[in-house]
Amino acid sequence: MLDDITRRIHDAERAANRAEGSVRLIAVSKVQPDDRVREVLEQGHRIFGENYVQEAQGKWPAFRGDFPGAKVHMIGPLQTNKAKPAMQLFDAIHTLDRPSLANRLARLAQEEGRCPDLFVQVNTGSEPQKAGILPPDADAFIADARALDLPVIGLMCIPPDAEDPAPHFEMLARIAKRNGLANLSMGMSSDFETAITHGATHIRVGSALFGARVY
Ligand SMILES: *Cc1c(COP(=O)(O)O)cnc(C)c1O
Repeated sequence: MLDDITRRIHDAERAANRAEGSVRLIAVSKVQPDDRVREVLEQGHRIFGENYVQEAQGKWPAFRGDFPGAKVHMIGPLQTNKAKPAMQLFDAIHTLDRPSLANRLARLAQEEGRCPDLFVQVNTGSEPQKAGILPPDADAFIADARALDLPVIGLMCIPPDAEDPAPHFEMLARIAKRNGLANLSMGMSSDFETAITHGATHIRVGSALFGARVY
């Protein structure tokens, strides 16, 4: 329930001595039935997250027509060959995770004259199967992306499944701070309150809001 999640966000903001409204909720609508997504739009929510370019292309043009001001953030891995439609469709991309993608986005940004806000994904757990820049490479990658004139506004992470997420959120906050980045995309259904304690500005909540995903 949206009201319920909103209340929990405000409680966590207050507990962390943060201003009410300093955390943005990204409603992760991937795989959810359209009528559930429409309900949340009708309740006035306007920021959503999607993982797949094709799925987002299928539903967001119509939703945006019906609900002006709706924003969609790409939070899933982005293949280089999908970079162009992704740039045209999304308001932000949270998964800038490698030099080849940075180069492609920079070239497209020149051609299109615009670029979505970008978050660099950091693989804080250094997990081999997970996307993201490794922590020791993060500073150099952020500098390279900035040198390409890419609008990097923050960092994103997905902590390892079976670990306490807090040290991962702390690590992401440290890397952001030393690089002068103001935004932290961290925290999901199971740990968004912990993420808020550690400075999250964007939390990505799917199942706690919409119910379990049925694939
Ligand atoms: C699916 C997904 C989420 C939402 O997960 P929930 O546990 O359903 O809240 C958040 N972030 C990313 C990157 C995801 O892929």
